[in-house]
Amino acid sequence: MFALRRRGLALYIEADIWHDRHDLAHAFGTRWCGDAMPPTGGDVEGANESPGAVTMAGILEAPSSRVITAIQVHGDDILMVDGTDADTARRLTGDGLVTDRPEVAVGIRTADCVPLLMFDPRRRVIGAIHAGWKGAVLDIAGKAVGVFADRFLSNPGDINAVVGPSVGRCCYDVGPEVIRAMSGRPWSDGLFDSGRPDGRSMFDLGRAVTCQLVDSGLDPKNIVTIPLCTSCRDDLFYSHRAEGGRAGRQISAIMLRE
Ligand SMILES: [Zn+2]
Repeated sequence: MFALRRRGLALYIEADIWHDRHDLAHAFGTRWCGDAMPPTGGDVEGANESPGAVTMAGILEAPSSRVITAIQVHGDDILMVDGTDADTARRLTGDGLVTDRPEVAVGIRTADCVPLLMFDPRRRVIGAIHAGWKGAVLDIAGKAVGVFADRFLSNPGDINAVVGPSVGRCCYDVGPEVIRAMSGRPWSDGLFDSGRPDGRSMFDLGRAVTCQLVDSGLDPKNIVTIPLCTSCRDDLFYSHRAEGGRAGRQISAIMLRE
C-alpha cells in the first residue's frame, strides 16, 4: 500500500499505486526532510532537526529545486498554479494547489491535518490539498474535485487520490461542534466514536475526506489512505497533538513529469 523510503538522510512515504508511474512524482514528507519546518517556541526554536537532509524538491527531482506552497489558513480556497513562481505563491493564501504544468511541484504543509494528493492520469492534472477539520467542514476535497472537473474537464471517476498520514481516530478527540458541523451525510455517524466521559468524541478525519471524495464522484478503488497516525508516529512526523501545539510542519508534494 505504501513504503517508507530514504533519499540521503531524508525519509518520506510513497504510495504504491503511483510508484511505477514515470509521468508522476510524489512524496509525503516526514520531519526528517531537509525543508520540514522546525517547531517554533520552546528550547528548540529555529533548530533544523534534519540538517543536511534532502529537501522535498530533491526527493521529487523538481527542476526548479522548489516546491510551490501557499499560506494555509484552514479555508477552502484552491489556487491554480500556472506561470506562478514559487516566491509569488508563497505570498498567496490557499489550502489547495492545482496544476497541469509538468515539472512544477505543488505542496502543502501539515502536522496532523490530512495531506491529500490527487492525480487525473487522463487529463494530466494534479493537486495538493490541506484538510483539517475546518477544511473537512468546508468540503475542500470535494471542492478540489470540482476544480479538476470545471477547469480541466476531468471526469471524477478518473481521479486518483491518496489520503496521506494524518492524526488518526486513535488520537483525535473533538468537541460537539465538529460532530454538528459534519452531520447530515449518510456516513456522518461513522466518522465518530462517542461515549467518552468528557463528552468529546474520537474523529476519523481521513475517513471524512475519503467519504467526501466518493460523494464527489471518485471511485472508491481509486482512493488510498496511508494508515499512519501522525500523533502515534511522532518519531516520523510532526504532530500538533503529540507535541502540544508547538510542532513543526512536514511537506508533502506532487509533480507531473514531462
Ligand atoms: Zn494515533
